[in-house]
Amino acid sequence: MRFLSKLLYFNKHFMDKYVTTIYPKVYVPRLPFKENDPISAIATLAHEYVHLKDRKKMGFLFNFFYLFPQNLVFFSLLGIFNPWWYLCLLCLLPIPSPTRAWLEYRGYRMTLFVYEYYGAMRDHDDFLEWIAEHFVNSSYYWMFPAKSFIKNKLKRDLFLYGSQQKDISEVREIINILGGDNKT
Ligand SMILES: [Zn+2]
Repeated sequence: MRFLSKLLYFNKHFMDKYVTTIYPKVYVPRLPFKENDPISAIATLAHEYVHLKDRKKMGFLFNFFYLFPQNLVFFSLLGIFNPWWYLCLLCLLPIPSPTRAWLEYRGYRMTLFVYEYYGAMRDHDDFLEWIAEHFVNSSYYWMFPAKSFIKNKLKRDLFLYGSQQKDISEVREIINILGGDNKT
């Protein structure tokens, strides 16, 4: 993890704030995890559950999609055969990653759902703004610059549990787990 934290130099809070999932494990910064904020803990674990499930379903394609296009930098090793391959070094730049954004969107849709389930969102707009911010800042290496697109998409996914009743299998699974809980 320390190595990963060096690699993720652009994310200063990697070790002390972020939860990292490397299939099949979830690493949390400390235990007990978010003792004073159980809803946030549930939301985080449910979000990571989506990643684990996607990874299980997609196999290494998940890793490829998640790291794309920065992972193409490895082709620069072929530069020893033909220097044109060194152009692949440009993939290290913070080029947006629609595939990482898609996978994270699936995770954050779950985050949104859990907060909604517990009625824990103080202000919808602030909450959507907070999620969308992760897509445009360094948290995930500037993966998706179109913040309003993310916000609008989240808006359409809002009230998943309420009026829309969209049938999303992982949300249904989490509802079944939380169902044993006393919903407030
Ligand atoms: Zn995530």
